[in-house]
Amino acid sequence: MSSHREVLILPGDGIGPEVVSQAVRLLRDAAQACDMELDIRQEAVGGAAIEADGQPLPEATLAAARGADAVLLGAVGGPRWEGLPMHERPERGLLGLRSGLDLFANLRPAILFAPLADASSLKAELVANLDILIVRELTGGIYFGEPRGIEQTPTGRRGVNSYVYTEHEIERIARIGFDMARKRSGRLCSVDKANVLEVTQLWRDVIGEVAADYADVELSHMYVDNAGMQLVRAPKQFDVIVTGNMFGDILSDVAAMLTGSVGMLPSASLAADGRGLYEPVHGSAPDIAGQNVANPLATMLSVGMMFRYSFAEREIADRIDAAVLSVLESGLRTADIISGVADRQTLVGTDAMADAVLSAFAEEAVEAEEAQVAQERDR
Ligand code: NAD
Repeated sequence: MSSHREVLILPGDGIGPEVVSQAVRLLRDAAQACDMELDIRQEAVGGAAIEADGQPLPEATLAAARGADAVLLGAVGGPRWEGLPMHERPERGLLGLRSGLDLFANLRPAILFAPLADASSLKAELVANLDILIVRELTGGIYFGEPRGIEQTPTGRRGVNSYVYTEHEIERIARIGFDMARKRSGRLCSVDKANVLEVTQLWRDVIGEVAADYADVELSHMYVDNAGMQLVRAPKQFDVIVTGNMFGDILSDVAAMLTGSVGMLPSASLAADGRGLYEPVHGSAPDIAGQNVANPLATMLSVGMMFRYSFAEREIADRIDAAVLSVLESGLRTADIISGVADRQTLVGTDAMADAVLSAFAEEAVEAEEAQVAQERDR
């Protein structure tokens, strides 16, 4: 039986349109492979929307995002808009989407595909086959707490931010963390600073209470300073990490660097109903825009996450990951991931890398079909 899904495409700025157009090809092929009817719509966000509409997140874009099952975004920003006041800049478009869709759960996998092990800043044996998932709370914590600001006092200026979490906010992100851990190795590490900050003592308490519903998941707690150290000392000890907004922001960038290139990292931001925004972790890379050299893999892997988390099509998501792995094993590299260490590497541009992933995805489909036929025959 075929399903029907609406996907909103937001190419954005810089290399955004280049990598997104390649990822949309994969989106169409992947939908076809699972008999999904796709309704694809495109709108402007970020700098492109400022040029077209005078604002980074036009009402039509937000409305289309609210009506879609999933959103695929490239990246926003660039030097052209850097002189604008903070609240008018392209990046505001992204923040507006996150809060407008209540995308409270940010999932950032840090996966090191074995053929790229020597691109990491750590020793290859510490990171080969690394596969961590960081679940970051995205709409609360110190980035949003009130009061905030800088004020003049009789003894000089005073800056204030407020670190606030409610029980409800902690519980809903905890459940995402436990659910993810349950689908993976069954281990969850919650990161806080409960020895110093009361709000994270509440975090630890609520995580512990939610754990009662997940007896099959092994829960551990770690202070954030230690977690930072452990991530660069022995990263493979982690499977799923759940943490608040600010700690997650910092730790996910540390984990990202373990994998070598920002051009390889996908992400998902989910709402309570499973709808999500999928985007590469990298920015608009204005230094390489329009040159057909950007790595499209982070955005293509983000399509994989869309099938995994918003469409519950795990097999298709696995097939996308496998296609990317086989292309890397074949030696194809965009400029950001070529190491010069191995001699079997071939430098390719954005288009050629995407072509190779599409072919590998099609081959994975043939292999999966053959395996199924063989299985049925042997029954
Ligand atoms: P960036 O991620 O755009 O670029 C950092 C470096 O990584 C650059 O050298 C770039 O060439 C390289 N790079 C990034 N993506 C790549 C890819 N797919 N393939 C190959 N190389 C890649 O970060 P930046 O330079 O700090 O920011 C540039 C602009 O992007 C700024 O306007 C910033 O505000 C914006 N930005 C947007 C997002 C987003 O939309 N989510 C995230 C970060 C930065």
